[in-house]
Amino acid sequence: MNLKTKHPIVIAIDGTSASGKSTNAKLVAKALGYVYVDTGAMYRTLAWHCLLKHVDVNDAKAVANACRRWKTSFECVERDGLRQVHLLVDGFYPEKEIRLKETAAAVSHVAAVPKVRDWMKKTQRDCIQFGNLVMEGRDIGTNVFPETDFKFYLDAKLEERSARRAADGVHENLAARDQRDSQRAAAPLMIALGAKVLDNSKLTSAETSGWLLAEIRKIMALEK
Ligand code: C5P
Repeated sequence: MNLKTKHPIVIAIDGTSASGKSTNAKLVAKALGYVYVDTGAMYRTLAWHCLLKHVDVNDAKAVANACRRWKTSFECVERDGLRQVHLLVDGFYPEKEIRLKETAAAVSHVAAVPKVRDWMKKTQRDCIQFGNLVMEGRDIGTNVFPETDFKFYLDAKLEERSARRAADGVHENLAARDQRDSQRAAAPLMIALGAKVLDNSKLTSAETSGWLLAEIRKIMALEK
């Protein structure tokens, strides 16, 4: 998937929790006029749905069944000059609910279920219908769009990432979630082959997004 083989382009931004993926993916999408896709929000939506339906998130079979049966749809909306894809369940977009502590604690359990990952991969690839994408997550460069030439991996020191979440009023054990995400058998969090890696512990989001845009433009220039 590159300029030679025609559009759409997918820019994959993976990395650890609170490494600045969302902020910077949004800035990059806005700058390029691409559609922003938050795949973590999709996993969070399934975790929230399971909690709502009293599905035990530690029971892989029950989670897989819930994922097979839930009724979802997409919408692509424009907000503050950014086009973004939302996953709806029964016509509802659980924007606030997926950020609750309970959802955050459940999400990496549902994300470890192989059938869930298959469903997510297919659904996330379907987002190409909306055009060029900036997609952030944990396995975009390794698993969802491994063919893209635009692969990035963001990270920052744990103390810095925890401080960033705390500044947003969120206190959670990021190390435990990262460990579950990195150690699961199905599509674990890892650096994709050929991905450009940035530790942004000491960088502002303007600096991180500036670096991303400069790297993206370099790759685009090579492909012209
Ligand atoms: O990015 P965010 O913190 O919202 O992601 C929530 C969780 O969703 C991650 O901790 C991970 O368990 C799961 N996830 C994933 N693969 C992705 C995106 C998110 O496993 N591509």
